[in-house]
Amino acid sequence: MRRSPTGSACVALNDSKTLINPANEREICVVEGYSVAETDAAIDRAQQAFSTWREVTPGDRARLLRRFASAVDGDIENLARIEVENSGHTVGNARWEAGNVRDVLDFAAGMPERLHGKQIPVAGGIDVTFAEPLGVVGVIAPWNFPMPIASWGFAPALAAGNTVVLKPAELTPLTALRLQELAREAGIPEGVFQVLPGKGSIVGERFVTHPAVRKIVFTGSTEVGKRIMAGCAEQVKRVTLELGGKSANIVFADSDLDAAATAAPMGAFDNAGQDCCARSRILVQRNVFDRFLERLEPAVRNVRVGDPTNAENEMGPLISSEHRDRVAGYVGDVAFTGSSPDGPGYWYPPTVVLAGRNDRIAQEEVFGPVVAVLPFDDEADAISLANATDYGLSGSIWTSDVGRALRVARGVESGNLSVNSHSSVRYWTPFGGFRQSGLGRELGPDAALAFTETKNVFIAT
Ligand code: NAD
Repeated sequence: MRRSPTGSACVALNDSKTLINPANEREICVVEGYSVAETDAAIDRAQQAFSTWREVTPGDRARLLRRFASAVDGDIENLARIEVENSGHTVGNARWEAGNVRDVLDFAAGMPERLHGKQIPVAGGIDVTFAEPLGVVGVIAPWNFPMPIASWGFAPALAAGNTVVLKPAELTPLTALRLQELAREAGIPEGVFQVLPGKGSIVGERFVTHPAVRKIVFTGSTEVGKRIMAGCAEQVKRVTLELGGKSANIVFADSDLDAAATAAPMGAFDNAGQDCCARSRILVQRNVFDRFLERLEPAVRNVRVGDPTNAENEMGPLISSEHRDRVAGYVGDVAFTGSSPDGPGYWYPPTVVLAGRNDRIAQEEVFGPVVAVLPFDDEADAISLANATDYGLSGSIWTSDVGRALRVARGVESGNLSVNSHSSVRYWTPFGGFRQSGLGRELGPDAALAFTETKNVFIAT
């Protein structure tokens, strides 16, 4: 049986996935994955719906998206509960994530009426451009932030007049299924926004190979992202990639060391480190290295790890036992750790490792609560060390010198930097990676343009 998050039963299909609550290892439910034939049928429905959705007037499309946002707003506690159970996110985080979907939808609701073309002065006539929707957009989401990441793709895609098929990660389909129900309740027409749980190798690959899917928005590992990009090349299919990261938190000697050390743990361990923007390398200027570590240790020990339904806790479990094994496989020279509960659940304590520049842990994405600390000598060394991985997603710079903050921000090859803070994602501002962290940008004022083609029309006068 495919059980929806609200409890309604659906048809029995092949390829089932038993979902486990990562905090207590209890079975939640079984979700059936879509087959290739079912995926094709959903894409056909999306293609049919496109012909009418693109004709919905901008004002009406905006109104429907606002209604979708308000349906999400009314369901925040329920969505958060589902995410806590399915993904082990702390309830505080899960509430923020559901609220982010509402906000992203509200923000996207402002887009249909502002998709202005241009009028360009030319000789002999009038020249105008149109921002045309693409058609069916396939969104492929990861398990680490199932709700927000899906919405960064589907909300602007819908706003620009596309229809969307969304494939959530195998481990975390439940909030996406609930969002599909909320969209229907809000009046988003049938076929415009469909959620297709299932395997990457079946549903995800079909999005890539199906000619009616005109764009893929993929968030996930760099390894799978490269395959998707190669697959999209066959049809010159549009693609946005949001991939892995190994971001640096750069702490200069002239910074407020207490503030930098207090903030560093949650810059790395939020969502149990399963965050593409995790500042999983802390680079500390050599002359304050020991002083920084002395301050970091109590801050790490103070991270409250435990039952994610308890709003006091800051960190929950990892997503699965396989993932915990993978994370543990990276850990070598441990400087100190925080605590984590015993008993059932995929727990792993916040862990600080002293690393050399060429160590695997200083280069590869662990995607768990493990941070590598490395010393640097001066500004130039900090920039070159920050850039010494294949990634370039996010990062932080702690300094009291505004000139240095700007010089280093310009020097670090990364899409999202913050100074004296660890924030990465704001729906008003563009988000995405340099180098092997991705291609294209999501969110921000131009989000809808990534879901349009520019058409130029010349009219002779
Ligand atoms: P993953 O690459 O294993 O899977 C991501 C999605 O792709 C899942 O839905 C999966 O089913 C699907 N998929 C797998 N194989 C596929 C294929 N051959 N064709 C089509 N789809 C396929 O990644 P994950 O383990 O779910 O997520 C963790 C990774 O995501 C980390 O590397 C993390 O850094 C990255 N991530 C990046 C961002 C960002 O915005 N840059 C955000 C969150 C996560």
